Amino acid sequence: MDCPKCGGYLETKAYGPKISLERCRECFGLFVAPDVLMEMREEWMTEAFLDIGHPKIGREYDKVCDIRCPACHVSMDKIVDPVQTHIWMEACPQCEKIFLDAGEFSDLKYETFMDKIKDLFRGKRPG
Ligand SMILES: [Zn+2]
Ligand SMILES: [Zn+2]
Repeated sequence: MDCPKCGGYLETKAYGPKISLERCRECFGLFVAPDVLMEMREEWMTEAFLDIGHPKIGREYDKVCDIRCPACHVSMDKIVDPVQTHIWMEACPQCEKIFLDAGEFSDLKYETFMDKIKDLFRGKRPG
């Protein structure tokens, strides 16, 4: 399979018995099933082993939209994380797999200190 963002090669990476996903060799984007993504959010240190791309590269490729699922070749939908609304991902309407740019998974996982701070201060500004 080819990476939908940069055309690089997607290689299979496994971590532990439950986690297996595709990762691009060029931009380090992750192509992952939703249930695997849930496992990754629970599992210790997955981001350090799996999400190894530089967030700067991820932010570049985050601008690439209208991508097609590398497995089904249909247009992927843009979805937003309900908690961390700055994180946009692409999801395939057919196989439901999700494409994350480099750094996005780490961002999702550390839900995040900054988001919590924003919650704390929301609505408390005078005036
Ligand atoms: Zn790529
Ligand atoms: Zn698909």
